[in-house]
This record gives sequence, structure tokens and C-alpha cells, in this order.
Amino acid sequence: MSTQHQERARVDLLVTGAAEVLTCAAGAADLIGSTSGGVAVDGGLIVAVGDISSYAAELVIDARGGIVLPGFVDAHTHVVFGGSRAQEYAARVAGRQPPAGAVVGITGTMTATRAAGRDALRKQAAARLREMVEHGTTTVESKSGYGLDTETEIATLDTNRVLQQQLPVDLASTFLGAHAFPPGADQAAYVDLVVRLAQRVGAEGLAEFCDVYCDEGYFDLAQTERILRAGLEAGLAPKVHLDAYSHTGAAALAAELGATSVDHLNLTTDAELTMLGEAGVAGVYMPCLDYAVRHPQPLDPRRVLDAGMELALATDICPGCWTTSMQLAIQMACRAGGLSVAQALRAATLGSAAALGRADRVGSLEVGKQADLIVLDVPSPEDIAYRLGRNNVTTVVRRGRVVHESNPAPRPEETR
Ligand SMILES: [Zn+2]
Repeated sequence: MSTQHQERARVDLLVTGAAEVLTCAAGAADLIGSTSGGVAVDGGLIVAVGDISSYAAELVIDARGGIVLPGFVDAHTHVVFGGSRAQEYAARVAGRQPPAGAVVGITGTMTATRAAGRDALRKQAAARLREMVEHGTTTVESKSGYGLDTETEIATLDTNRVLQQQLPVDLASTFLGAHAFPPGADQAAYVDLVVRLAQRVGAEGLAEFCDVYCDEGYFDLAQTERILRAGLEAGLAPKVHLDAYSHTGAAALAAELGATSVDHLNLTTDAELTMLGEAGVAGVYMPCLDYAVRHPQPLDPRRVLDAGMELALATDICPGCWTTSMQLAIQMACRAGGLSVAQALRAATLGSAAALGRADRVGSLEVGKQADLIVLDVPSPEDIAYRLGRNNVTTVVRRGRVVHESNPAPRPEETR
């Protein structure tokens, strides 16, 4: 009788057969923590990464020579909205004005969102979120900001709460009552309303974050400060839509308040980025948005990294930038933004987790973290950036459960 083979520890799930496992662990010198072996999962958490030969499980996912990495974290979205701006988009790409009656701009979407009603709002957002999960996203930030009145802002945040219960994805809810001024509104009165709403949202636990669109024609520096401080007092961590179309000077405010993230950054100076880096504020890069609006000054994300900031990546899905795929964001971050594949993958996982204050729970494959992982049927990490416009994700595991599996899983060695 041999004692050579010890009893293997039983766990819920094993992932085996990967060409590479990318842990994206914080200290990884190559940014993505490329390793061989697999992942062992039990009780919804990761119990081993790399050598898993001492574990056994009933459920084994064979990655079939593909790549395993943490589920994507989408750090900035406006996924809950009513209506569509396809007519506006089509007109703008052709250099024309949108046709009469088309839904145009944030205030157009505001009208469509108010008219949609809670059920339709939830169903439309759920369809987009399911698509995001199928594309490998396991954590999504979701903002309000298309209601711009008490009833619809609260309804949007309540939709986040309901969707969190119904869908296999983690939602981080953000109050963005300060997305724009409703048409015809008295600005001072509207800022007062947003402050009161921030207090209510914090008290009722309807969001984690309070965000403000600080830009010319939107909320100025003083209004931004007042709203963010009210949010902070109510327990909502600050985020800022910063310098997308004009230089606002709000970077110093974000650093002073210890914002969790600053997003857009198109016109933020290098000195400000360095200050934000020293303050530990993450920077969110949204290459699909810069593309969809044909931004005159797209962000060069390498400036954010050079400044010592944690770089995050997001789809920014909204009526002006309709994409559910973090893979597309990665592809654009590399080709349009000049990031290396490793930099982009790191930003899409641990970087984005940092931009949601969740880097201790998600964003990397490390023992003790939430077992959110995906399998892609490509032979190398480089292929994730290289194979444009295809959904390379075949399996999505969230909290240790398979929540999406494409069927049948093609083999990466088959050249298509
Ligand atoms: Zn936004």
C-alpha cells in the first residue's frame, strides 16, 4: 500500500489546462503575473493559484489551451438609461445635424429616461449588463444621472439595487445627480437639490460614490466642491468627471478630498496628474468614448501611468458610447492609446478595482480574493488586444459559480 499519493483536498471548482494564468497580482513585475498551472476555488473564494495538484473538485473547467484572467472590472458606466441616440450618432458621424425629433444629448436621454418607467429602465439595463457579463465583466460601476430630478435619480439607484440582486454581476452604485443641469433649471436651486439628494442617498445606502461632471457648461469648481463635500459627509466617496472638454482645476480638489477616482482627464496637466498620483487617486481611461465622440484631444493614458497613478479602464457605456465590451476597450487602449498589452490588461482588472475601492476583493487572482475569473479561447495575452471586435471570452466565473459559458468552446490552436 502506497502512501505516496496523499488525499487531495476537495474544493468546489478547479480551472485547468490554460496556456497561461494571468493573476494581475499587485506586485507582479510584468504587471499581469503570468504563470502556469490553474486556479482552485472554494466557497466563492480563490484558495490556490498556479500549482493546484493537491486539489480535487467535482467541477473542473478545462481552459483548453486558452488564457485565464481575473474578471474584467468596468470602472465607469452609465448603463441605466432610457432610449437610444442612434439617430444622433449617425448624423454626427456624417457631419450632419440630428434629424428633428431625435433624442439628442444628456437632456434628450433625460427625457427618455423619465418617460421609460422603472420596469423598462430595469429591463433595458439588464439586457446590457447580461451582454457585459458574456464579454467577461464581473464588476460594473453604474451611475445615475439621466433623471436629474428626485424621483428618477432615486429610481435609477434603486434599479442598481434590484439588478444587483437579479444579475450575476457586482454593481458599484454611484450617485451622479450632478451630470448636467435640467433644461431651464435655476442652477443654484438645482445644486441645492443635488446636495439634499446626496444626503438622502447616503442615509439610505443607495450608493457608494458621489460623482460630479465638472466642466465648462456643467458644474463649476465651487459647485463641484459643495456637492462632493455633502456626499462625503453622507458617507459617499468622491469621484469626478474631470477636465473632459475644458481645464477646470478640479484636480487639486479631487486630491484634497481623496477622491477614489478621476475620470476622462483629457485636459488635465502633467503636474496635476502627479499630484493626483501622490494622493493615491486612480485615473479612469475611456478610449471607446474618446473614439465615439471623436474627441479633439484623446487622453494619452501613458501620461497617467508616468505620473504614478493607478490606471483604470472602462467602457463608459452610455447613449453616446454604446459598447458592452471591455475587450474592445483593451483593444483601443493599446492601438489608440499606446498602452502595452500588459498595461491594458492590468488597467482592466486590478487598476479598475482600485478605481472602485475594491482592489482588496476583486481585480486579481490571489488567495483569499473573490473567485471572479474568465477563460478566453486565445493562445496568448497578446491575442486579446490583437483579435479585434471578437468576443474571446468563453467562460465567466463569478464568486466561484459559472455564470456564462459559450457552447461549444472552440480550441485556440484552430486557426480561424
Ligand atoms: Zn461618465
